[in-house]
Amino acid sequence: MNYLIETYGCQMNTAESAALRLIFKERGWQAALTGDQADVVVVNTCSVRGTAERRVMGRLAQYEALKRKRPFTLIVAGCMASRLGEALKTACKAVDYVMGTSDRALFPRILEAVEKGMPFFTGDAEKPAFSFAPSHLEEGRFRCFIPITHGCGNFCSYCVVPYVRGPEISRDPEAVLAEIRRAAEKGAREITLLGQNVNSYYWEGGSGGRDKKNLDFPGLLEKAAAAVEDTPIRWIRFLSSHPKDLSSRAIRVMAGHPVFCRHLHLCAQHGSNRVLEAMNRRYTRERYLELVDEIRGAMPSITLSTDLLIGFPGEAEGDYERTLDLMERVRFLYAYMYHYNPREGTPAFSLPGRVGEEVKRKRLAGVIELQKRHTLELLQSRVGSRETVLVEGPSRRSADELLTRTERDEPVVVPGRRSLAGSFATLTLESLQGATFRAKELSLCPGD
Ligand code: SF4
Repeated sequence: MNYLIETYGCQMNTAESAALRLIFKERGWQAALTGDQADVVVVNTCSVRGTAERRVMGRLAQYEALKRKRPFTLIVAGCMASRLGEALKTACKAVDYVMGTSDRALFPRILEAVEKGMPFFTGDAEKPAFSFAPSHLEEGRFRCFIPITHGCGNFCSYCVVPYVRGPEISRDPEAVLAEIRRAAEKGAREITLLGQNVNSYYWEGGSGGRDKKNLDFPGLLEKAAAAVEDTPIRWIRFLSSHPKDLSSRAIRVMAGHPVFCRHLHLCAQHGSNRVLEAMNRRYTRERYLELVDEIRGAMPSITLSTDLLIGFPGEAEGDYERTLDLMERVRFLYAYMYHYNPREGTPAFSLPGRVGEEVKRKRLAGVIELQKRHTLELLQSRVGSRETVLVEGPSRRSADELLTRTERDEPVVVPGRRSLAGSFATLTLESLQGATFRAKELSLCPGD
């Protein structure tokens, strides 16, 4: 039988889709190229923005039309499934199963029912306890996501995640380390520890207090670095970092191990204290800038990226300018930039002072323009430098060229054989085309 998974949203969803793929494969299912060939279609959804939800509803309507031509099973998974639950079945009659982010353990039972051609009533089923998704290294890939926390307890005033994914749960470090070892055995060269806010990871394995069995995020980083020694894994990343929880110890551990990529995604969201407070971010711009100084002091070669949310209720021109000023001071390598859209069910939904659409769009355009300039300047300044890269595989344009990535996740295209995929190599960044570097030749790293 054939399956298709469509994934929307963040890397947590990418990791969860990979876990679903693993379950399909273990049961002997084949991946379909399109929905036309699939016996089961899973749409793994995102609720963070209204636009993401509208796009999914559009896709569901297309599947509804397809289902009129031939039968198949349609499963909606992810944050929309958690947020809207069975109401999704009313909104789209073609939906057979709604599987929220905490219900993944029901998935094998749903598949079993599909295989037997029997209905399965998820509402009647006793819901198994939440368990972390086992990570899954796709064939021909060398990067692996390993979830370390699930959910979030921060309640930023604009965000639905704490409501749809629930409170933060930290994963047993033994399970994390076992996943890392498994990924290494399967040929992973790079891992990313994932969570909504990885820095607040805390495993209470002991009897509380300062019990040695308890483990915080820096402690987990140390264990992860030790676990990849003598394995093919050479790079470790982690995502996302919340400025209020990134500790000096975590920075020191990162700086002390070259295995941690010299790039950090540190969500700023805004540059004005007034707006940060209204967003319930629980740090100030001064604290953010202090943290950036500390990170750069410990790792001078590091680059930073961020998320920026423009047009939050009450944002005045001066607040917006503080954001531009923060960007000038930090100079991010790249940023995910959005304008605020009200999300029902979040505290910000009822805040006064909504910013008009036109003003939001204009301010967002200003932020994007500034970021483009910073990205270009930073990339240009690196032409001529010697870099270590991980070879991903053939480039999209030519079979004689390879697509590689630096530890800052920048793409570099270089001539080379496809058999080098998965190798670490060094090269010189010769030129820049758009946001992609070009190199003339690569040399394999010792041991690769
Ligand atoms: S930290 Fe804030 S923005 Fe990020 S998931 Fe949690 S509540 Fe949402």
